[in-house]
Amino acid sequence: MIKITLPDESVKEFEVGATPMDVAINISEGFARNVISAAFNGTTIETATPLTTDGTLVLYTWNDENGKKAFWHSTSHVMAQVLEEMYSGIKLTLGPAISNGFYYDVDFEDHKITDADFKKIEDRVLEISREKHEFKLRPVSKAEALEVYKDNVYKTELISNLEDGTITFCDHATFTDLCRGGHIPNTGIIKAMKVMSVAGAYWRGDEKNKQLTRVYGTSFPKQKDLTEYLELLEEAKRRDHRKLGKELELFAFSQKVGQGLPLWLPKGAALRDRLEQFLKKAQKKAGYEQVITPHIGQKELYVTSGHYAKYGADSFQPITTPAEGEEFLLKPMNCPHHCEIYNTKPWSYKDLPKRYAEFGTVYRYEQSGELHGLTRVRGFTQDDAHIFCTPEQLDEEFKKVIDLVLYVFSSLGFENFTAQISLRDKENRDKYIGSDENWEKAENAIINAAADKGLNTVVEYGEAAFYGPKLDFMVKDALGRQWQLGTIQVDYNLPERFELTYKGSDNELHRPVMIHRAPFGSMERFIAILLEHTAGNFPLWLMPEQAIILSLSEKYENYAKKVLNLLENYEIRALVDNRNETIGKKIRDAEMQKTPFMLIVGEEEEKNGTISIRRHGQEGKGNSSVTIEEFASIVDEEINKTLKVFTV
Ligand SMILES: [Zn+2]
Ligand SMILES: [Zn+2]
Repeated sequence: MIKITLPDESVKEFEVGATPMDVAINISEGFARNVISAAFNGTTIETATPLTTDGTLVLYTWNDENGKKAFWHSTSHVMAQVLEEMYSGIKLTLGPAISNGFYYDVDFEDHKITDADFKKIEDRVLEISREKHEFKLRPVSKAEALEVYKDNVYKTELISNLEDGTITFCDHATFTDLCRGGHIPNTGIIKAMKVMSVAGAYWRGDEKNKQLTRVYGTSFPKQKDLTEYLELLEEAKRRDHRKLGKELELFAFSQKVGQGLPLWLPKGAALRDRLEQFLKKAQKKAGYEQVITPHIGQKELYVTSGHYAKYGADSFQPITTPAEGEEFLLKPMNCPHHCEIYNTKPWSYKDLPKRYAEFGTVYRYEQSGELHGLTRVRGFTQDDAHIFCTPEQLDEEFKKVIDLVLYVFSSLGFENFTAQISLRDKENRDKYIGSDENWEKAENAIINAAADKGLNTVVEYGEAAFYGPKLDFMVKDALGRQWQLGTIQVDYNLPERFELTYKGSDNELHRPVMIHRAPFGSMERFIAILLEHTAGNFPLWLMPEQAIILSLSEKYENYAKKVLNLLENYEIRALVDNRNETIGKKIRDAEMQKTPFMLIVGEEEEKNGTISIRRHGQEGKGNSSVTIEEFASIVDEEINKTLKVFTV
């Protein structure tokens, strides 16, 4: 008999050779019908793999990431089978699962796959799937594997790098592929499949190699899931921050300026400034002090911090001065600069905590292929701050930072989030810097603070950095996509490296603890996420223009200007559209700009000293006529609903 431990820590005994599926059936027949993949002692296996030793077993369904991975990877086998059928003599290479689907890299030789073929491929994949073929893993010798693939240079290369005795083939229907495993039980549960696109991809990602064709696909256990997924993709396309950023004139890129270096246009810069002012105001209340540091720093600074040893090779290379031969790096992070600010004078425990905040612009090298709009750039501004405190103050400081992060989220309409607590690996505590006692303190501070604030948390062991535990906020956007926003991180390393000290009540020198934190993360990435989350309909307090005054004709130009002046008195951001265009055209343009309030002025309004309000996206709702004063209180009320005053 063997002892199988399940995720709920229950232990059950089974005959030697029982399979994960047997274990699933033992739990319940209904559950077993949904099990599509398994992991034994942390390694993915087939649901039909015989278990021969004691161990921990996790069973996955479609609802688990690992279940989806097996589902998608298995579909890539079926698609590869169909491609081979349709284009004879092609060479298959690799077909892994990725997020939201899978791909297969294929050397199509003289064939060419086009969009017109997609439907045929999909139909055939589903036809084969309906036949419920089992996926069966079969061990083969290296010699046998090399013989089978003697005409395929790619598979031959893969096999050559494998050790004899570890090689397996996967068979289903009449198709065989070199594969280490991770499949669903049979093809029958693949009910919907779509070829998404094709793209060029170099063999092994190396541009010196031959360019292959990457065929992207996705699949689902229900047709309805596929339909929903495709709708979500369409909506994501409409909300793509690169598209919206252009339409709303927020930011741009210039090949002349350089890749990955965003240019903030006036409206975008104003928006960003508003966000900065919002956070600065809250930070001031929370006891932060603003500091400013340069965009470059001596290489030695980063040698001291350890960043150079770790990231130096993958960074922008040092800039040298012509006469002195000094070496400077573009600042990849603000922390070392802030440590040196702390070091400008001696501190007593009574002075702590010190909280230095800076909207610090940093530069990190990203390969050009990795750049993406505002989410992957080469220069960005962090809403950074570093808190230097005593170990005893950690608890309190953590709670305060959480308050600030929650304030940011609620003011910007992020309601759906979880907090991930990253702690040490329980088994392997030697790889972390800092005393056991301090770690214990910091980990408890995070756990307590999160519980105290009623956060919805997940604890990940082994996810802490080597220099300290952390708390990350994972936010779900309006399309259900997850983003990591807001990090709070404890650091025992930099205070050590920069020899930071404070005098304790015992008159001895002690090391302060450092907290890194950034509620937005970076201004660029945050604005990108906010754009996609809100589809450009930012909270009213943040909108570039809160209102636009549309005159019915040139006759009312002066009245429109008068309204604008009055709105300025109420600090409402507005514009006038006095173009010689029809009101219909003016409304359409204002809708494009997502301006929340369109204020229409004509004869009636001028006579009564009023404006006629039309809300963005509420066509046909009818306009309401109000005075400027009434309008100002409508705006005020709406702003106060989201933007509360930060209190400590
Ligand atoms: Zn496989
Ligand atoms: Zn930092």
